[in-house]
Parts: sequence; structure tokens; C-alpha cells
Amino acid sequence: MRAFIPNYQLVTPQSLTEALDLLTESPGTWKPFAGGTDLMVLLEAGKLPHWNYVNIWNLEELHGIDVSEAFVTVGALTTYTEVQNHPVMRAEFPMLCQAAKETGGIAIQNRGTLGGNIVNASPAADSPPALLAYDAELEVISQAGARRIQYSKFHTGYKQMDMRAGELLRAIRLPRRSAPLIHYYRKVGTRKAQAISKVCFAAAAQIADRRVAMVRIALGSVAPVPIRCQQTEQTLENLSVNDETIASARRTLASEIAPIDDMRSTERYRLRVALNLLEDFLSRLRAS
Ligand SMILES: Cc1cc2nc3c(=O)[nH]c(=O)nc-3n(C[C@H](O)[C@H](O)[C@H](O)COP(=O)(O)OP(=O)(O)OC[C@H]3O[C@@H](n4cnc5c(N)ncnc54)[C@H](O)[C@@H]3O)c2cc1C
Repeated sequence: MRAFIPNYQLVTPQSLTEALDLLTESPGTWKPFAGGTDLMVLLEAGKLPHWNYVNIWNLEELHGIDVSEAFVTVGALTTYTEVQNHPVMRAEFPMLCQAAKETGGIAIQNRGTLGGNIVNASPAADSPPALLAYDAELEVISQAGARRIQYSKFHTGYKQMDMRAGELLRAIRLPRRSAPLIHYYRKVGTRKAQAISKVCFAAAAQIADRRVAMVRIALGSVAPVPIRCQQTEQTLENLSVNDETIASARRTLASEIAPIDDMRSTERYRLRVALNLLEDFLSRLRAS
């Protein structure tokens, strides 16, 4: 059943202040509308749950990629195409560029935003594992000012997040690392393109003196939220990668994730793929 368009209202504020005023007025009434690539699917299916939308697309404060010495700050309205085209993103955060490249097709990449992907909060979304592996931090704004949240603490349950009424996601802050990282990103879906992930795996590591000096491992589609696997990371930290540490990491990951059977895949398949990807990542670390 398609939606009845006159039931909906979309307003375009002229400034950030105006947008925040609207979002604060009778809390919960107005919702942000960014690229619309998630919202329009719901509209088309007659399942769009809210009636009033604030078009945030023109808000300059949410656009652009800013590079400072310590951080790269990516505006929430940055599209997948912009992520892929930015030289610093390509050099330092290649997993985000890869996630962007594998998200939908060209039209979705031109219109879909990183902020929309985060706030839509699908456990199967493709950017979140890369953001978790890069220790991303979120900046949200409201009439009360700005606050920062570690991205690893943002998703609190299925489609639930640390975001209050009246708040907008303004930007994503990515800490820059002085030592080079080994990056490993894999999206496993039914097809190579235009597929929703069955498992999405992102990991980053630094090796020093043949030991794991730093490691981040994050997965999508294996729990109600995108998750960082800190227990698995702990089985590797300060150790050399060998058969024993690989076996121990596999055992820990198997207990740390909670895949389910659904229309896209089975628990068994997802678990097996996640463990195989972990092993492949660790084999690369060992070889490096
Ligand atoms: C054909 C197709 C293929 C797709 N393929 C993929 C894929 O491969 N991988 C993948 O991960 N996703 C995919 N998607 C989903 C979608 O494109 C992404 O999630 C996209 O990043 C959403 O961004 P948007 O700007 O379009 O969000 P919108 O649809 O505008 O908004 C999504 C949600 O986020 C909220 N929101 C948006 N921006 C903000 C903000 N700044 N502050 C607060 N709330 C905000 C909105 O209120 C809404 O609830 C696909 C979608 C389609 C239609």
C-alpha cells in the first residue's frame, strides 16, 4: 500500500537555528530528512511512521570534510561519493571508502549520507563496522549546545540510540593515527553489488616488534546493533599472531557475537563467515 502524500509535511528551514527550533518544538513531532534514501523506501511502502519532516539537506554546518592535525571531521550530510573522493579519507580511512563504494549503487552513493546511515541504525548497515574500527566519535547538536559520544556507545539496542529529542547528528570525528594501520574490510552479501550484508567485518591493527600493538575488530549483521568485539581484541593485544592466538580469538569471537536466522541468512552461516573472516584478517597480520 503506497503512502498518501498529502498526509506528509516537509519543511526546509533557512538556518541551523531554525531547524533546531523545529526539532525542539513539541518533541518527537518533527524528524530530520537528509538524503531520504532510507525514508523514501518506507514512504513508497506506505510504512513511513512520522508525518512531519525537516529537510536538513541545505544546512552548511552539517556538510564538508574538515582535516585538522588530530582529527578528520566528516559532516553528517557527507555523501558516500564525497567520502570516496576525498584524498585524506582514501589515504587514512580506506575501509570507510570501501564501505561507501559497496553501499547501494551510484545514485544511492550520490544521495545517501553517512549521518543517515548511522541514525537509521540498521544492524546490517555497512559504514558502522568501519567507524567502530576507527574509534569514531559523534557530535550531536541541539538548542542546548553540542555533545560528543563515543560511537561504540551510541547504539543501545535494536534501532535504539543515545540521541535525545531535539538533537541532530552534526558530524563524525575520526582520530588520525601517526603509525600506519593494517586495514581489513569485507562485506559478505548475496551479490557483489546492491546487496544487504549477511556479515560485515572491519578490522584495523598495528604491529610492533612482531606483536599486536593495537587492534580493533567490529562486525555488522551479527547482533541487534553493529558491535565492536573488545573481548576478541583482548585475546590478541601484545601477543604475536600464531596458531594458538588465532584459535583463542576464534573461540572468543564465537561467544561474543549473537547472529540470528532471518530472511537473509542463517545463524550458522553468519557465525562461520565471521570466524573465517577473522582468521583471514589474522593470517594477513601474521604475514605482515
Ligand atoms: C537501493 C538502496 C540500496 C541501499 N544499499 C545500502 C547498502 O548497501 N548499505 C547500507 O548500509 N545502506 C544501504 N541503503 C540504505 C541507505 O542508503 C543508507 O542508510 C543511507 O546512508 C541513509 O542516508 P540518508 O541521508 O538517505 O538518510 P535518510 O533516509 O534521510 O534518513 C535516515 C534516518 O536517519 C535520520 N537522520 C538522517 N540524518 C540525520 C542527522 N544528521 N541527524 C539526525 N537524524 C538524521 C532520519 O530522520 C531517518 O530516521 C540502501 C538504500 C537503498 C534505497
